[in-house]
Amino acid sequence: MARHDAYRLPCVPGHEIAGRVTKVGSSVTKFKVGDLAGVGCMVDSDRTCPECKQGFEQFCNNMVLTYNSPDKHIGGVTYGGYSDTIVVDENFVLRIPANLSLAGAAPLLCAGITTFSPSTTGEWARARKWASSAWAVWATWASS
Ligand SMILES: [Zn+2]
Repeated sequence: MARHDAYRLPCVPGHEIAGRVTKVGSSVTKFKVGDLAGVGCMVDSDRTCPECKQGFEQFCNNMVLTYNSPDKHIGGVTYGGYSDTIVVDENFVLRIPANLSLAGAAPLLCAGITTFSPSTTGEWARARKWASSAWAVWATWASS
């Protein structure tokens, strides 16, 4: 899990972000303006560790959470889903099909992914370990 001492309180942890792409950078290839897109609980990782190289960025020790994680690009911390806008690397953005409502898609970006992804890879044990860590972080916030 990320460094707990870096969190800033109070925090409203919006992490089921669903919306429409309004701008894309010149290197973006997976999305265009107008696409429906979603962002879950993480927006970056180091992309170099063994977990990242295997496609398990959620286990990266240097992952950047959508909310309240140090932002290595602009400084400060990430502000999550209650922001008016969010800038995210396309590798951490999911396409939302046009026939799915944004309100219906948003919960899939946390609970849905948390349970669906490991069910497709046989990684239930790792998912349980991660969920326990996530709960520990939440408990820290709730008691502060
Ligand atoms: Zn990593």
